[in-house]
Amino acid sequence: MTAQDHDCTTVTYVDDRNTVVKSLDATVSLVNSWRREAPRFGMKENESKLRIVPRGGAGKRQQFKQQLAAKLDCPESVVVDTHRILGVDFAGAADPDIPLVTGNARLDEADRRARRVALISQGRERMKTFLATSVAAVAQWGWWRREPRQELRKFAKIMRTGLRDASTTWSKYLRMIFLGHRLDGSFTTGFQAWSMLRGAYKVGCAKNWDLRGRAGTWLNRVNRWLKKLGWRDVGPWRWRHAELGDIFWDRESRDKDLHDHALRESWRKQCFSNFLAQDRRDATEAVAQAVQYDSDRLKAAIAAASEHGLHAAAVLGGGVVSDALFTVHCKEPLPHQCQWCFSHVVPGWDHQCWLCPCEAFSATRPAVPEDFMQRRFAWPRLNNKEYDAAVVRHVVHVRQALLSARWERRPRESDISINT
Ligand SMILES: [Zn+2]
Repeated sequence: MTAQDHDCTTVTYVDDRNTVVKSLDATVSLVNSWRREAPRFGMKENESKLRIVPRGGAGKRQQFKQQLAAKLDCPESVVVDTHRILGVDFAGAADPDIPLVTGNARLDEADRRARRVALISQGRERMKTFLATSVAAVAQWGWWRREPRQELRKFAKIMRTGLRDASTTWSKYLRMIFLGHRLDGSFTTGFQAWSMLRGAYKVGCAKNWDLRGRAGTWLNRVNRWLKKLGWRDVGPWRWRHAELGDIFWDRESRDKDLHDHALRESWRKQCFSNFLAQDRRDATEAVAQAVQYDSDRLKAAIAAASEHGLHAAAVLGGGVVSDALFTVHCKEPLPHQCQWCFSHVVPGWDHQCWLCPCEAFSATRPAVPEDFMQRRFAWPRLNNKEYDAAVVRHVVHVRQALLSARWERRPRESDISINT
């Protein structure tokens, strides 16, 4: 379509018209064209609904506003920083200072829903499904032009509300893996932007590959999200991961499911590398033990977490407890004697779980694992299914015994750092 020699793209939805133009003159000419042409068909433009969203930084947008006022007869209020189109906030810049009203309203709605979900006592796995389908699904829609960084903090808080999670000693990245990609705001909003843009590409609406480098564009948003997950663009509509190969778009949407699977796998890998890079003793030990990402073991750990309940999930995610850790959290002096067996050792998790001769811990204890991830995190090693399960059952027992003994000695309010 052209408006007095200016190229423009117009998309209509019922009686809604949205047009992209490339200059101030084209804007003026487009509005004037409709003013002139509509009466010829016996219609009148409803200009109370006219909104113009200029692109660029704050200075550029202000300049546009002033220049437009000189060239077009319309109230100042038609020029806005952001406008809602089909439920998506379109802003003139990918600037976190421009509040995305619709996106934020959606987060508020998700928060309300999470509070309702929190009232249901249905077990953690079912709660996760509720959160993914009725809470995350509301919050994730429409973050197509920029990643909602600040807003994602709210998203994470919403998920904690829904799961009634207190603060925890788990690694936040391992915990994220166990909760699943659907409850991670960064993944889920990015994935939504990715799959919607892929749909637009398929029908020929996304054509300009060069836009991947231009901040504030949909393609740039998707490209940056992919980069964070370890994917580099290597050619038009094609991205490569060092270990997972290529993903690409074509009009036939070939291998769509395989590509989505690769994205989820890259997310798990990224979470695991983030865990290894954490400043935590278990992460440092894992690095020293040359622990590598192992997709099959991780999947088995995720399955064990959902099968054996919250205590298991906590240990599998690094949330071990011990008498030594309790004192650290309560800022008390570190004990140098185990109060269960009276040996002169610092009563840490490894002692109480694997070495302490006290019957409270030794009764359920299988042979001490040789593998680091199994000894420290109870991750299945996959060479003996029964033994793997016995290890998980044992750590659940030890964690429960330690916490029960702790509650007996202290009023509940005094412990805010360890969740059960
Ligand atoms: Zn002991």
